[in-house]
Amino acid sequence: MPVSYTNLIDGMNFFPAFLDIKNKPCLVVGGGPVAMRKVELMQRAGGVVTVVAPRIDPRIRSLNPKPECLEAHFEVNHLEGKAMVISATSDRRLNEHISKEAMSRNLPVNVVDNTDLCSFIVPSVVDRDPIIVAVGSSGAAPVLARLTRTKIEALLPMALGSLGKLAMNYRQAVKGRFRTTTERRRFWERIFEGEVADKIYGGRDKEGEDELCSMLEDKTLDISSEGEVALVGSGPGDPELITFRAVRLLQRADVVVYDRLVPKGIVDLARRDAEKIYAGKASSNHTMPQQEINELLVRLAQSGKRVVRLKGGDPFIFGRGGEEIGELMKHNIAFQVVPGVTSASGCSSYAGIPLTHRDYAHSVVFATGHLKNDMVELNWDVLVQPNQTAVIYMGLMGLATIAKELVAHGQSKEMPVAVVHNGTLPDQEIVISDLGNIAAQVRQSTIKSPALIIVGEVVRLHGQLNWYGGRAVRQDDLALTRSET
Ligand code: SAH
Repeated sequence: MPVSYTNLIDGMNFFPAFLDIKNKPCLVVGGGPVAMRKVELMQRAGGVVTVVAPRIDPRIRSLNPKPECLEAHFEVNHLEGKAMVISATSDRRLNEHISKEAMSRNLPVNVVDNTDLCSFIVPSVVDRDPIIVAVGSSGAAPVLARLTRTKIEALLPMALGSLGKLAMNYRQAVKGRFRTTTERRRFWERIFEGEVADKIYGGRDKEGEDELCSMLEDKTLDISSEGEVALVGSGPGDPELITFRAVRLLQRADVVVYDRLVPKGIVDLARRDAEKIYAGKASSNHTMPQQEINELLVRLAQSGKRVVRLKGGDPFIFGRGGEEIGELMKHNIAFQVVPGVTSASGCSSYAGIPLTHRDYAHSVVFATGHLKNDMVELNWDVLVQPNQTAVIYMGLMGLATIAKELVAHGQSKEMPVAVVHNGTLPDQEIVISDLGNIAAQVRQSTIKSPALIIVGEVVRLHGQLNWYGGRAVRQDDLALTRSET
């Protein structure tokens, strides 16, 4: 019977957990090949298995260790004293009966291929004992879970288990050597990401263990005061545009300080226990003042924290990244900068507008169109150069002024313009027009901040190259006609 998807709740449908069934009596109902796989799995986890079925495959009998085999019909008293039960019969009524009886006893029950009758489901497993990765689909798509498992299988070194066992053996010693959980976490991160892991993965177990011991005994090893800041670009919106390095740093961060434009999916990549501090609100009036952010970063790093300062797009493009690290340098705090995909790249790619093109634009200028006292202060002469694309960040409020000034400084009123809102996100919106009409067109649209303005002949290419779509594209008829000539 298929899973009824109406039963799926938002969030998690099953509580993921690992169950200890060592030396506990477990029941498998059914005597065929499916039952056999379940018996083997339970036995691998140390369960003491009884199999009940009128006919039991001889291969089950010859398993090692040999399960108790009862060639009989299932009876309720078979559930007595069991820690879990799996039903692997093809008899629907019998499955329902077993499920009902087990559930009424609060006994964990799984009916193979029938999620509705299960109180637990068995995940696909990547086994690098003691490291176990379990993948489940809440019964919605077991094949997808299995394919996901295969991908993870390929990612994890075969010797991961050896590393896990080594860690298990030294857990107590490490607890004795380092008092705080933060110190212990950092020690283990050094082990799992450094030489010790390299050696174990290379099959040099003894050398790996020696290295671990010498680190443990090194009295000068101090890992408590290593505060540092990574200024990390999160990209423009689509969480998949983040870099590998950003993900790695997020996963070892103690604190993440993030801005308004950082996609939520990316903040979620941080270590679950990391403190998350929001440094910007929707209205710019309420943003944490820059000086306060600078001081916060310094304070956190000085208290020994590993800080990830997450910024939208690229931290060095209209991101005030320079100011933040200037402050860190003053205080001698270790830092690094991780670039991100800036919104000019992200929005232009997802809008099908190449920023340069052999026939249309040989250079590209990034500028900020931020309004100050109702004015936009820019070097307009630079922005109206021929064969050039101008990309204007933060220009939505000043769009009418920007368009007027560009024309006043010699740009054609018919120069194509694109305004992209929420570029790279599923609700990306684009308005395309020309300098003479863009302000009015945007006013009539639903475009709001954040939005990026792209001015130049390359905007014409959108008609041919728009691959991503997005929610809405409003294209001025005039611009469209011209782009076809
Ligand atoms: N450091 C960032 C820019 C920060 S300034 C970067 O490299 O992208 C904020 C401006 O970036 C916004 O006003 C807007 O012009 C632009 N922006 C950021 N994300 C955007 C997005 N998803 N879609 C459109 N514009 C975006």
